[in-house]
Amino acid sequence: MKKRISVVIPAYFEEMVIETCYQRLSAVLEGFDYELIFVDDGSGDHTLDILKALAVKDARVKVLSFSRNFGHQAAVTAGLHIAKGDAVVVIDADLQDPPEIIPDMIALWEQGNDVVYAKRKKREGESLFKRVTAKMFYRLLHVFSDTDIPEDTGDFRLMDKKVVDAFNAMGEHNRFIRGMVAWLGYKQVPLEYVREKRFAGKTKYTLKKMLSLSYNAIFSFSVTPIKFIKSLGLITLAFAAGVIIYVLVSKGTGNAIPGWSSLMIVTTVLMGVQLFSMGILGEYIARTYEEARKRPIYLVSEKINVEENK
Ligand code: UDP
Ligand code: MG
Repeated sequence: MKKRISVVIPAYFEEMVIETCYQRLSAVLEGFDYELIFVDDGSGDHTLDILKALAVKDARVKVLSFSRNFGHQAAVTAGLHIAKGDAVVVIDADLQDPPEIIPDMIALWEQGNDVVYAKRKKREGESLFKRVTAKMFYRLLHVFSDTDIPEDTGDFRLMDKKVVDAFNAMGEHNRFIRGMVAWLGYKQVPLEYVREKRFAGKTKYTLKKMLSLSYNAIFSFSVTPIKFIKSLGLITLAFAAGVIIYVLVSKGTGNAIPGWSSLMIVTTVLMGVQLFSMGILGEYIARTYEEARKRPIYLVSEKINVEENK
């Protein structure tokens, strides 16, 4: 049977590009059995009207419209929830991700890869600021995150149905999709491409949205910061031990002003104890956090000689 391809396209104030986006996707996917899932993320312009008109003409166009702006990651999530394809492609509406490489993604998928992620070779038409902040962002992620998240990779990727199902089982609210997909594992391969200029309109990722995404990337993927408190406590306690020796020696040689020794000892020791206690609380918070997120404990990619449970 012919394999079905779903394409998920989040759109926020994209009235200037959405029609062209539809045309280029349709042209590329001709010959495939496909559906285009547009998620209107509470745009206040004509994006939804244009999408409705497209859906009337073309039954392969599915539209979800949000009650307000929930953000790009929520829009992609919603699209993935309803996608029915054997493979699902996530792509931006602004045509910065060229739809023309989708057939290459499909080819790699048919060769047995579960995730094909588009890796930017070059960023065209993006400000120095954007390039520098993006670079810093990936560096920071690498340092903090427990999951290895590929550099220069956005949300433009193809995922096999089993990966999408696993992804849909992740119920966390603060979502950083590219990290979540990296966390899932399976067979993932990059596909290099040149990121183009935005076709029209301007970026919807304000500095605030970018910062919030970076926060999610770090705090949803790592408990390193909270665990750091405990180490800080231990370092302070070690320092306190040094201070005690120094103070006692000074007292012994009569070099200490009255009151100084007790003050030094009490402050450093208490600081250490406090930080260390906070670190212990941090351990519990980290655990509660990991449990609350309810991620799957493991994911199976193949079963050999194992019968399916009823
Ligand atoms: N987007 C969205 N909701 C938002 C912000 C952006 O659905 O709150 C969509 C937007 O329409 C586009 C994609 O997410 O299809 C990426 O946004 P944008 O191109 O503005 O980001 P950039 O490429 O500048 O990082
Ligand atoms: Mg863009």
